Amino acid sequence: MKAMHQNSTLQYKFNISDELYRKVVARTNISLSNLGHEECFVCGTFRIHCKSTGREQNNISEDCDLCLSSEKHRDGYRKAREEYKLDSVKKDGLYVSADLQKVIMLPRCEMFKEIIFMPRLIAFNETFVPLETSKEIPYAFIWHEATSGRSKDDIISTFYNFLVAVGDVERVTIWLDNCAAQNEN
Ligand SMILES: [Zn+2]
Ligand SMILES: [Zn+2]
Repeated sequence: MKAMHQNSTLQYKFNISDELYRKVVARTNISLSNLGHEECFVCGTFRIHCKSTGREQNNISEDCDLCLSSEKHRDGYRKAREEYKLDSVKKDGLYVSADLQKVIMLPRCEMFKEIIFMPRLIAFNETFVPLETSKEIPYAFIWHEATSGRSKDDIISTFYNFLVAVGDVERVTIWLDNCAAQNEN
């Protein structure tokens, strides 16, 4: 929050106090969270491997399979990140990033004991967010377990509905954060 406030002061010449900035952000209903727990399996394994062998993560061993495979993995995601950045400024079509939010349990109200022991409704949210956010609007497809589940057919139907909703666009590029081998779309 502090870094965001400093950035707005520098970049947009905002002249508001840290306290007011926090209040305004709170009013927009945006919350900040640490994404550290979303580390992928390969990166997590390599991090533990480095810790247990006392090796720096940028100093890999040429005759260790784990080091080599994680380097290959790193090259892959760096290249993907570059392509993603390039796509975010392209104008020849629609470029979106698709993601399924982690399962939402409703009602979402942790402070009352009565609710903690209540049966919950499982809800899903698949979003398609334009890489260049200033022009296009994001799409969110929300459903719950009484409507449908989370099988590949359910996920595919969000892609279908997204393509129907965007309508007459010549070229649509969809970025996914899941493994290509699992991507059954
Ligand atoms: Zn990784
Ligand atoms: Zn190694």
